[in-house]
Amino acid sequence: MHELSIAEALLDQVRRHAPPGSRILSVSVEAGAGQSIEEDCLQLAWQALTRDTELGHAVLHVTTLPWTLKCNTCNRTWQSPDPLNPCPCSSSNTQASASHELHLLSIEVDNDPTPSPPELHFAAKRKHSRRPRSRTSTMKPRQRSAK
Ligand SMILES: [Zn+2]
Repeated sequence: MHELSIAEALLDQVRRHAPPGSRILSVSVEAGAGQSIEEDCLQLAWQALTRDTELGHAVLHVTTLPWTLKCNTCNRTWQSPDPLNPCPCSSSNTQASASHELHLLSIEVDNDPTPSPPELHFAAKRKHSRRPRSRTSTMKPRQRSAK
């Protein structure tokens, strides 16, 4: 499976670029149409590889770059996700070219290293059910100084 080796290479790059011990939230990549990646397959491969690892929650964002098409009849060039996209001049004499590259665009890292388990929030909520009385403040009502 083509996508599995891509996902492996990607994972390798992510591990090399991410700060050690950081929690990675998402990974964005850009793939040339020449790679002919099936995004669904790549997502599955990514999930299979990252499952039970420190990257288990990292979301993969894939952007596929379009093909560049050139019409040999009217010399028009345009971009399309479909390499067989016909030219508006109705000529089908077109050439499609695309990048075969795969770029790691960005890695989103969670900068807060301390996890906050939901149990702590729950405990804190229950403790403060009794309100401290503060009546002294009502004795001296403040008057606004009108200017
Ligand atoms: Zn044309």
